[in-house]
Amino acid sequence: MARVAVVTGASRGIGRAIALELAAQGYRVVVNYRTREEKAQEVVDAITARGGEAMALKAHVASREEMEALAKKVKEEWGNVYALVNNAGIVRDNILVRMKEEEWDQVMETNLKGAFISTRVFVRDMMKAREGRIVNLSSVVGLIGSPGQANYAASKAGLIGFTRSLAMELASRGITVNAVAPGYIETEMTEGLPQDLKDTMLSSIPLGRFGNVQEVAKLVAYLLSPDASYITGQVLVIDGGMTL
Ligand code: NDP
Repeated sequence: MARVAVVTGASRGIGRAIALELAAQGYRVVVNYRTREEKAQEVVDAITARGGEAMALKAHVASREEMEALAKKVKEEWGNVYALVNNAGIVRDNILVRMKEEEWDQVMETNLKGAFISTRVFVRDMMKAREGRIVNLSSVVGLIGSPGQANYAASKAGLIGFTRSLAMELASRGITVNAVAPGYIETEMTEGLPQDLKDTMLSSIPLGRFGNVQEVAKLVAYLLSPDASYITGQVLVIDGGMTL
């Protein structure tokens, strides 16, 4: 039977591309979203039109109640989850002296607590099944920092510590846990950046271009696949050489 994958924040951007890629590889895919139901349904429709199986489920990743309800629904419909991709993420950029507490809290809540809550609702069944795969979407910003993004950088660096600790906790149960750290990928999250900042960033990328969502999706799919069975606790950077 087809394996089940849950992709958080899959209504658009990188999560959408991951959902489409996993469906193309034969997974049954849960397309999680928070607000944009129509977008999530479009992803499901695109998957089913190609003969795949998907369902859109609304839940705030950091809400235990909502994620427990999502996990219950998935189990009833499709059984155990094999692969979890903690992709949902937000930015609330500001320099530190102007950063409001809400901006700090919202980013930490969705990006870091969201991964904790989402993982906890699925991990027990993975442990019982003695198999599973978890991939967390970090960022190069979590490795090298970024002015105006102290909250985002802290959340993405936090995800790396989370990934490594879980990899150690879960290895004996046959579960791998890895992080992917993209550089600049063209999505809604990045399109609003000022042009001069984009130009500066572009000049620091040895491959001479921004990344696209399919490139990240292929890497995530690889980490979920049997080919990556001996990789755990790693942070795979996908940034066109930007951090070299
Ligand atoms: P987008 O802003 O394009 O999409 C974000 C997705 O996350 C949407 O599907 C959104 O759902 C969902 N989401 C946001 N908050 C929540 C929540 N609380 N609960 C559930 N879903 C939520 O982001 P990207 O595709 O650009 O980024 C995806 C991930 O990759 C993020 O973690 C980001 O930090 C990371 N990343 C992105 C980079 C880039 O250059 N784009 C670089 C490095 C890392 P809805 O539509 O319903 O609001």
